[in-house]
Amino acid sequence: MNTTKSESIYSEAVQYIPGGVNSPVRAFKSVGLNPIFVDHAKGSRLYDVDGNEYIDYICSWGPLMLGHSNEEVLSGVEDIIRRGTSYGVPTEIEVKMAKLICQAYDSIEMVRMVNSGTEATMSALRVARAYTKRNKILKFEGCYHGHSDALLVKSGSGTITYGVPTSPGVPADVVKDTLVCRYNDLDSVKQIFEEHGQDIAAVIVEPVAGNMGVVAGKKEFLQGLRDITNEYKSVLIFDEVITGFRLAYGGAGEHYGIKADMTCLGKIIGAGLPVGAYGGKKEIMDMVSPVGPVYQAGTLSGNPLAMYMGYKNISILKDNQNIYKELEEKAIRLENGLKENLKKLNIEGTVNRAGSLVCLFFANGPIENYEDVMKCDVEKFNIYFKELIERGILLAPTQFEAMFLSNAHTNEDIDYTIKSSYEAMKIAFN
Ligand code: PLP
Repeated sequence: MNTTKSESIYSEAVQYIPGGVNSPVRAFKSVGLNPIFVDHAKGSRLYDVDGNEYIDYICSWGPLMLGHSNEEVLSGVEDIIRRGTSYGVPTEIEVKMAKLICQAYDSIEMVRMVNSGTEATMSALRVARAYTKRNKILKFEGCYHGHSDALLVKSGSGTITYGVPTSPGVPADVVKDTLVCRYNDLDSVKQIFEEHGQDIAAVIVEPVAGNMGVVAGKKEFLQGLRDITNEYKSVLIFDEVITGFRLAYGGAGEHYGIKADMTCLGKIIGAGLPVGAYGGKKEIMDMVSPVGPVYQAGTLSGNPLAMYMGYKNISILKDNQNIYKELEEKAIRLENGLKENLKKLNIEGTVNRAGSLVCLFFANGPIENYEDVMKCDVEKFNIYFKELIERGILLAPTQFEAMFLSNAHTNEDIDYTIKSSYEAMKIAFN
């Protein structure tokens, strides 16, 4: 594989951008490679600046349910840009977008648009704290909710702990009210509520964790969170930045039949442009300025171009809900193929799938929480990744991320992926 141009751009990039990239995982560091630089992408395919073609399973980390450069999503975009790119006063498309989201989500009566998933979760927590007049929040190890200070925590020793910062620059004081429990472990949540329940403003959770590979929340775990937060009058926040409009049109809330008090969205609602949103019960959202006292704002929030693209993306999904079934069928095809490969080669591995999110872990299952995920053989994954990229298949460059399928992936793409995966596994476990 020739990557001369990518290498040359990268050597310049590192001089001006930390690590040469604007988000760390893009550096391909954990797989021991240098990044490829993209020229363009279409459907399921991504093309780098050296002309290499890849079947793309990153898909911008989730937004591109309909694949790259979807013609229907793009139509009319030029006209929108020519009218103006940002006004700082409202536009009707923001209202249409809000209405569409509220209609899709039982759990959302009102919604505020922001510019990223990070902003969505950070703002939702602020509102929940103000609403409950409590300070503590509870999150789960292995769930990622963006990079705001209070959420950059891991558990200390033991399964139920106060969080410790995962990044220098996050003062211990800022995370002193962030509690951390083990994912899919309701007992640890019960225990922490017994101790701190009256002080817990919110529980924030990815209903399907998509940031430690793919680990689905068990129904009884999520229902347990619903029950305990009801009992203690804490706010239950579903972080659906990945699962929103992906797991089902109504996201994980619809899929599990559980109604959170607040829901955070991102990715698909922006169709690849910088968008996030948080919403919930009217009574809670009435806390947000200018109706209520909780300050939260954004120069580019509800940006007309982003709203236009996002609205189109969601509308297509709304009008073609067969896409969910088709996508799931493709994901099952991939899941089965990968499982078959493991079996044929007698390799210790587990394939987790939730809807169109798939992850192959090189560790024996079941994989249900962060500790399980950490048992994976990362060295083998790195060899596997390299073999696949050589064969024109682009996975997320780390063991701990999902494979994102899009509607543009064909059965042929998937069959080729399975075949290549077999070869790559054989080499990695040789
Ligand atoms: N929440 C979840 C579940 C995510 O997966 C992410 C990002 O991947 C975020 C929040 C943060 O979103 P963003 O990267 O748009 O800030």
